[in-house]
Amino acid sequence: RAKRRGRHQVCFYRESLSDAMSRADRLRNELPRAIARGEIYVVYQPIVDASTLSWVSVEALVRWRHKEWGELSPGEFLPIAEEARLMPAITRRVVEEAISSLAKWRQSGLSLTLSLNISAQDCQLYGDLVDDLSRAVAECGVKPEDVEIELTEQSLMEHAAEELVRTLCERGFRIALDDFGTGYASLAYLRRFQVTRIKIDRSYVARLYTNEYYERLIRAVMALAHELGLDVTAEGVETAEQEALLRAIGVNRLQGFRYGRPASASALQEVAAGHTDPL
Ligand code: C2E
Ligand code: MG
Ligand code: MG
Ligand code: MG
Repeated sequence: RAKRRGRHQVCFYRESLSDAMSRADRLRNELPRAIARGEIYVVYQPIVDASTLSWVSVEALVRWRHKEWGELSPGEFLPIAEEARLMPAITRRVVEEAISSLAKWRQSGLSLTLSLNISAQDCQLYGDLVDDLSRAVAECGVKPEDVEIELTEQSLMEHAAEELVRTLCERGFRIALDDFGTGYASLAYLRRFQVTRIKIDRSYVARLYTNEYYERLIRAVMALAHELGLDVTAEGVETAEQEALLRAIGVNRLQGFRYGRPASASALQEVAAGHTDPL
């Protein structure tokens, strides 16, 4: 009996150890097939104009529909994708799906534009990105001017970023600097990369009422943006107080759960009818 119980305990131990380790390992194993099978999809979060509070744009945010664990967020699987050098394969999916969604919204009379996130690894490895983007907008009948590419300070520090951004601009795409204030890029990057929008990271918005310093910081970013002719979006707006202060400071656009959580293209289209100005 002792022997049996002992064996049992060993089994139990091994099982729980593998349970704890398996999620990331399994995601790593399953990701290539998930991409091929279309389990990677896109949700969209509205972005509002700060003065009218009507929806003017949406950001495409990637998700993985896992057969066992349901909807996975990018925070969980993008690091795994990066490690496996699979970011370009994911971005290709996002580009196709998001631009065809944009085309559908515009055909139904919604005057929305689209933001897409591009990672540092895309800058490195996705050599056909601009061609794929150009083909997607041409095939769907939307204008490159209606598509904004969000890059982080980290992406801009990639060797290939300068050429990538220059080509994107030449083709008419807009460039936004995402998560502003969380990276290591210098202010010189704003000019060098023809950035037209700064997105203030939500960690700053979240701290707005905890310390007056953060209000001054956002005012300073706003003044800088004004001098350089840049638009500013604040991310992560959740409360009426944050909204009021950000509007008073003069931020151009607001994004956050207060205006809508990321949703499917069709759900967004239904709700958008009541929140957007006609095309
Ligand atoms: P991000 O580009 O800064 O996107 C905004 C993130 O903040 C989204 O998280 C969004 O759901 C979340 N968010 C928006 N409003 C609020 C709010 O009011 N409160 C809080 N707490 N959060 C809010 P998500 O979708 O989990 O994406 C996280 C990050 O993953 C993104 O940050 C972006 O860096 C990356 N990501 C998402 N989709 C893609 C993609 O298609 N390609 C690449 N390269 N990166 C992506
Ligand atoms: Mg973004
Ligand atoms: Mg952001
Ligand atoms: Mg952010």
